[in-house]
Parts: sequence; structure tokens; C-alpha cells
Amino acid sequence: MPTISAPQVRASDRIDLHTHSTRSDGRGTPEQVMREAAAAGLNIVALTDHDTTAGWTEATEVCAELGLGFVPGIELTSRATETDPETGRVHRFGVHLLAYLPDPNNPELQAAMAGTLESRISRLQAITERLAEDFDLAWEHVEDIISDGRSAGRPAIADAMIVRGLIGKRDEFFDLVYPGSKYYQPYSGVPDTIDAIKIIRGAGGVPVLAHPMARGKAPEPGQRMPREHFLNLIEAGLAGFEVAHRDVPPHAREWLIGLAQEFNLIVTGSSDYHGTGKDNLLGENLTAPVMLERILAQGFTG
Ligand code: AMP
Ligand code: MN
Ligand code: MN
Ligand code: MN
Repeated sequence: MPTISAPQVRASDRIDLHTHSTRSDGRGTPEQVMREAAAAGLNIVALTDHDTTAGWTEATEVCAELGLGFVPGIELTSRATETDPETGRVHRFGVHLLAYLPDPNNPELQAAMAGTLESRISRLQAITERLAEDFDLAWEHVEDIISDGRSAGRPAIADAMIVRGLIGKRDEFFDLVYPGSKYYQPYSGVPDTIDAIKIIRGAGGVPVLAHPMARGKAPEPGQRMPREHFLNLIEAGLAGFEVAHRDVPPHAREWLIGLAQEFNLIVTGSSDYHGTGKDNLLGENLTAPVMLERILAQGFTG
């Protein structure tokens, strides 16, 4: 891996810290994503593929050529367990953690990513088998999509169904296969969220919670917010929240900004760009330069 040096940050920089490439579930190669980022008028970009650093080298090289600042990142899959303080009910759900500037050779971080990668295939096979009962779909169709060794998730099955003309776009797939639906299978072999935060810190990385309470996970406006859950994450070493993300509702953003002020944490904003697979546009949300400075000050790489 080439040396990755932290970018110089200027007050006028347009910064997007959450993008995906073909190394996970994005539609563009790392090179294409960075070229599109430059064309979109961004100055500093992070590549944050799911559970892999495989795109960093290519992205670093093309950013150097384009004069773009590059921030190496990972979107780490984890699973949280929370007990409702009122009902005592145990609740498990997936949590994505953005890890900025970790040491990619850290053994614990590598083990966490490897465990998730191994479970990905069997999980996608289970989902595909259930879909095959209702749709003209087989595992070999999904295999065609993931044959290049990408860190694949449900979007790989969505793309196989699009290729076969069973659905029109990825969004339709997620209306079918969501946690709790008959086709869904959760991840196994992924780290607990608290452990994942500690692993990222142990690798010198800066853990930022990706799209907190996105897509229906937030309580309704006026309802009690999950403060205990967030305090546990902060105590474990969470550095901040990705507040400005299209899937985080306004009342959740407001609450998160208050929490960040209370605990002097970082807030970011980003696109979560996946190429043509999703509507998210590069630079649709940005991170303030002072916030990136704070991330760089805490990170290992560079
Ligand atoms: P998985 O890893 O199988 O849980 O898939 C998660 C990925 O699917 C996310 O990283 C997004 O890229 C994508 N995704 C999840 N939910 C949706 C949705 N409702 N619409 C579009 N893409 C989604
Ligand atoms: Mn994704
Ligand atoms: Mn995510
Ligand atoms: Mn993402």
C-alpha cells in the first residue's frame, strides 16, 4: 500500500467523507468515484467501502493525480444489543461505523473485517434461497455479480434481480428484503458495536456513527430518544455522528447535534454515494473543514 498522507484542509474545501466503490456495493471503480468527485467540485473525499480497505491504493493514486485530498476510511458492519430501560426487552439491530484513518494492518481490525466478509456469502445465499421460492432467481445469478471478490451485501442480489428483469431498481428490492421481512437474514460473525468502536480506536482510527437512526430507526418526533444507547457508544470511544445524511430525519439531527455539543463530539455530513445504484449524489451533504481537522488530529494514518 502506498503511503497515504493526510490532506491539507482549507476553510473553503468541499468535503464528502462517505462513498462506495465496486470494492463493496458501489457501481463505480475507486478511480471512477474519485474522478466523479473532482467533477462534482469536491476537494477532499473519503472512500468508505463496507468492511474492506481494498480500494484505498487505487483511490490514493488517482487522487494524487487529480489534486484531490484523500481520506482513507471503512464502513464497518456491527451489531448492537440494547435493553429497553422501560420494558426490559432486548433489541438487536445493525449499526454501521465509519472508521477514518485506521492502520489497515492492525490484526484486530483485519479480523473484524474478515469475520464479516466470511459471513456475507452464506447470508446472501440464505436470502437468495428464500427469494428463489417466489422469483426466477438462483445463486449463480448473484455469483455473477460478486465474482470479482467485492465485499457484497444485499445490493448484489438486487443487481442480479435487475439484470434478470425481476425488478427495475435497487429501491424496489429494499421494499422486499428488509429486517423483519420473510426473505431477510441478519449478519452473523460481525462484531458487537461497542467492540467495533474499541477495535477502530485500537487501530488508531476515528469511529463516526454512520447515518444514526436512519430509515425509520428514530423514535417519532416528541418520543423519548435512545440516550442510553448513545451514551454507551460514547463511553466506548465514539468520536462523532454523521448528522447530515439524507436518511437521518430532521428531529434526529437536531437531537444528535445537541448530544455532540454536550460531549464535545465531531459531527459530519456526507453523501453515502453508491454510483448509479442509489440516488445519493456526491457532495449532497458536506463535512465542515474544522470537523475534518478534528478527525485528522485523532487518526493514525498520515
Ligand atoms: P446489507 O449489508 O445487506 O445490510 O445491505 C446494506 C446496504 O444496502 C447499504 O450499505 C446500502 O448500500 C443499501 N441499502 C440498504 N437499505 C437500502 C434502501 N432502503 N434503499 C437503497 N439502498 C439500501
Ligand atoms: Mn452500501
Ligand atoms: Mn451504511
Ligand atoms: Mn455507506
